[in-house]
Amino acid sequence: MSTTTIKAFGTQSPKDDLKEIKIERRAVTANDIEIEILYCGVCHSDLHTARNDWGGTVYPAVPGHEIVGKVTSIGAGVTKIKVGDYAAVGCLVDSCRTCASCKEDLEQYCLNGFVGTYNGKDKHLGTQTFGGYSEKVVVDEHFVLKVPANLNLAATAPLLCAGITTWSPLKHWKVGKGSKVAVVGLGGLGHMAIKLAKGLGAEVTLFSRTPSKTKDAMELGADAVVISSEEKQMSEVKGKFDLIIDTVPYVHDVNPYIATLSVSGTLVLVGYLGPLEPIINTVPMILGRKSIAGSLIGGIAETQQMLDFCGEHNIVSEIEIIDMQDINAAYERMLKSDVRYRFVIDMASLKK
Ligand code: NAP
Ligand code: ZN
Repeated sequence: MSTTTIKAFGTQSPKDDLKEIKIERRAVTANDIEIEILYCGVCHSDLHTARNDWGGTVYPAVPGHEIVGKVTSIGAGVTKIKVGDYAAVGCLVDSCRTCASCKEDLEQYCLNGFVGTYNGKDKHLGTQTFGGYSEKVVVDEHFVLKVPANLNLAATAPLLCAGITTWSPLKHWKVGKGSKVAVVGLGGLGHMAIKLAKGLGAEVTLFSRTPSKTKDAMELGADAVVISSEEKQMSEVKGKFDLIIDTVPYVHDVNPYIATLSVSGTLVLVGYLGPLEPIINTVPMILGRKSIAGSLIGGIAETQQMLDFCGEHNIVSEIEIIDMQDINAAYERMLKSDVRYRFVIDMASLKK
């Protein structure tokens, strides 16, 4: 299959910094769309992958799954979009499209394994997939999203992962007017969870370890902020929330949050992947019919619905634009929870 060599930013090992490398992109096939990448958001999953936190990273690794850009070429069979349109790609670039999950528009739960935008198994080239820290991307039209025309393009990029990852549980657990929602952690996912839950009409509380984020949280739309290390504040919200979205990236004690769920409430983990410590006490769960759940990004149709909702409600991410060359410093700030509230790479900087 013919390919073109393009510039990207990637890493060769968990310990190396990201730097400029060359990767191959396939020529467009009948159903493909080629996008010149204009902006790419920086997700904490990019850092987890670059540093092999989850195991299984294939090197070189090129992260980036919050992609927006301009369509530069389309295959003969493409009907969704035309050359010159703005388009977006999130965390998925392929799936089997025949299993029960795919048939229900749940490509993220493909029973035969979805293909991630990076570190996935590229069905065309046989290598790993390479993400959005690059000049362009070639993706099957089914996995390409349309961008609402009224939204700022750079600030739209984070919707493709931080947005959909928090939107999907809000919709699945039927959050609407009057729902009481809490969000744990004010980072990329957390700030989108606040905005989207507010957009759906919920009353929203933020749990944070960082008192200096209180003012920002209120400006983002939170109705209240609870500092999670303050026992008195935690006890004041006992039994309150219908849904808690926990975005914390590392192992942490979830028992104090379970105490704040209402009867039949659900704590949905979207951040940390791995065994939880300390052990979860089932007593409050049994006595209050409470659930602990997980959730992975969202399907393609759902992602388009989320983007359209954001277009109607003028919802975008709060961003700090960086150059591609600043990515290693950005990762260090992310590790210190010092992101307000999503880094977005101006991909024009890759041409420097
Ligand atoms: P982020 O911007 O770094 O935000 C994470 C926030 O969690 C921080 O700002 C901080 O908020 C809090 N936090 C960080 N370390 C903590 C610790 N040790 N204990 C307690 N709180 C801590 O990260 P993100 O991009 O939002 O991603 C969050 C997690 O979701 C990552 O692990 C990422 O891989 C994962 N993720 C999952 C999915 C999915 O589909 N399930 C999709 C995308 C990302 P405060 O300062 O307010 O405490
Ligand atoms: Zn992500």
